[in-house]
Amino acid sequence: MISDLVIIGGGASGFMAAITAISNGLRSVVILEGTSKVLEKVRISGGGRCNLTNSCWDISNLVRNYPRGAKQLIGLFNRFSTVEAFDWFESKGLSLKIEKDGRVFPSSDSSQDVIKCLTAVARNSGVKVFTNSHVQKISITEEGFKLLVKGKKYFEAKNILISTGGHPSGRRLATSLGHSIIQPVPSLFSFSTHDSSLKSCSGITLDVQTILTVNKKKYKDKGPLLLTHKGFSGPVVLRLSAFSARNLYENKYNGELRINWLCMNEAEVRSKLDLYKFENGKQIILNHKPFNQIPKRLWRALMLSINIDNQLKWADLTKYQKESIVRCLLMKSYLINSRGPFGEEFVTAGGVSLNEINFKTMESKICEGLFFAGEVLDIDGITGGFNFQHCWTSAWVAANAMSIK
Ligand SMILES: Cc1cc2nc3c(=O)[nH]c(=O)nc-3n(C[C@H](O)[C@H](O)[C@H](O)COP(=O)(O)OP(=O)(O)OC[C@H]3O[C@@H](n4cnc5c(N)ncnc54)[C@H](O)[C@@H]3O)c2cc1C
Repeated sequence: MISDLVIIGGGASGFMAAITAISNGLRSVVILEGTSKVLEKVRISGGGRCNLTNSCWDISNLVRNYPRGAKQLIGLFNRFSTVEAFDWFESKGLSLKIEKDGRVFPSSDSSQDVIKCLTAVARNSGVKVFTNSHVQKISITEEGFKLLVKGKKYFEAKNILISTGGHPSGRRLATSLGHSIIQPVPSLFSFSTHDSSLKSCSGITLDVQTILTVNKKKYKDKGPLLLTHKGFSGPVVLRLSAFSARNLYENKYNGELRINWLCMNEAEVRSKLDLYKFENGKQIILNHKPFNQIPKRLWRALMLSINIDNQLKWADLTKYQKESIVRCLLMKSYLINSRGPFGEEFVTAGGVSLNEINFKTMESKICEGLFFAGEVLDIDGITGGFNFQHCWTSAWVAANAMSIK
């Protein structure tokens, strides 16, 4: 029997598309999942809590969280955005909560509840899910498509949706149907440095301003930075890694990270140093600091890195040394030489080229009846629930477009 829709990949996008399509009247909707378990990435996401969207309700702000795909997402989010995703899950019985930083999680803090919700709704609506069904080949037929599944099983479909995430097989299938691929590279990672001057500060988190320079291109950002024993991580670094992902990859992960540890300007820092020197002349610089926001451990490490003697008193600080402190606090530079381990989240930047997709429908401009959703596309977001949001949105739009075909 030929299905109205066969979905390749049982992840977030695949389930959203299947449920939406069947509830819109498509008669037979099938999900083919290559592994033995569906929604595996949902399970491990958000440290097991699944950060499934964000309370950034304003579309012009929302798209700023996507280093790739922002322009195309404007139209898509006008139809199904964070508000709609939030309401969609709650209407399916999944209670959600919004954390202070805007991230949305299930109230239970368990990604299993997101899986239970999606699988139960799919099952009750009549979606057929086949696991261990890795799609190897797709051929075009008169009525639509014929899919070869590992083990020599065939499925036929009028429409197909490729929602294979970052897995290379999905990109191979897309290429076989005439699509071009923007080379996939990792996004959302921490930075490693050979500079060992901050090793003793591992674990410290601080709000900072940063400028990352890669191949002469500058990326500026502000936010919490986490010092690790290998380098730098935390939200601001993950965001920088996302926006510079391709450039860093091409530059073999070499770059320069400048940190303004105080988020202050030179005049403010100079006058604070002068006043402190005047009032605390007898104190040792390494042990007494004018800036409360800088933890003791970090202050000592920074001062030692610019050769401030561990017995030097504030009264004896020379003009030259003062200027060195100003530079160290406001524009200390670290050479990044490799990609560190990933944070909680990891996505692929790159995928099916956006020029070949009709963003009103998510249908291929090259092959009629072929649709795409989720991470398989050259769209990715920063951490905060934005990657899942793009999955829900693109899948919802694709499923609606098929339903009115
Ligand atoms: C550790 C981790 C934590 C994350 N946490 C978050 C988070 O909290 N919030 C957030 O927004 N994002 C998070 N992400 C990113 C998010 O998980 C992905 O963006 C999202 O899962 C992509 O969904 P998808 O449906 O496009 O692809 P996937 O979820 O990857 O699903 C694709 C499915 O297709 C199957 N498949 C592949 N090829 C074939 C084939 N040929 N035949 C059949 N099946 C196939 C795969 O087995 C897989 O099950 C996290 C990612 C990681 C790795």
